[in-house]
Amino acid sequence: MSSRQKKRSSVEQDVLRLIMDAGDEGILQSELWKNMGVDSREGSRAILRLERRGLIIRKKELHSGRWTYRLFSRRKYATIDDIKDIPCTFCDLESRCGESEISPENCKMMTAWIISMLGEGAGR
Ligand code: SF4
Repeated sequence: MSSRQKKRSSVEQDVLRLIMDAGDEGILQSELWKNMGVDSREGSRAILRLERRGLIIRKKELHSGRWTYRLFSRRKYATIDDIKDIPCTFCDLESRCGESEISPENCKMMTAWIISMLGEGAGR
């Protein structure tokens, strides 16, 4: 990876982290520039790349008489609530799991749990 690509990737990561930190309220694009200390041109490119990759959503908003965008992350930070129902917590096979044919890879309970988590994430 070239130094230019590394810098670009680093800006994208910083932008995404700040948008994720904003949570469900999202963050105005202008606030993002202030918090990051990057110029709006560089930041705008990073936002467009993140949007193209489906990681963020932009919603047009009138703020102080000017049109801008509010940015929302499609990704959320994992919380304890996200994993509290994992089937392994109360599984009788837990002590043998992964040492024989019993493993997360062929566990129907784990598969069902992952599918249910993906379904919940899709609504975010
Ligand atoms: S992966 Fe399945 S078998 Fe293994 S501990 Fe978790 S629930 Fe039990």
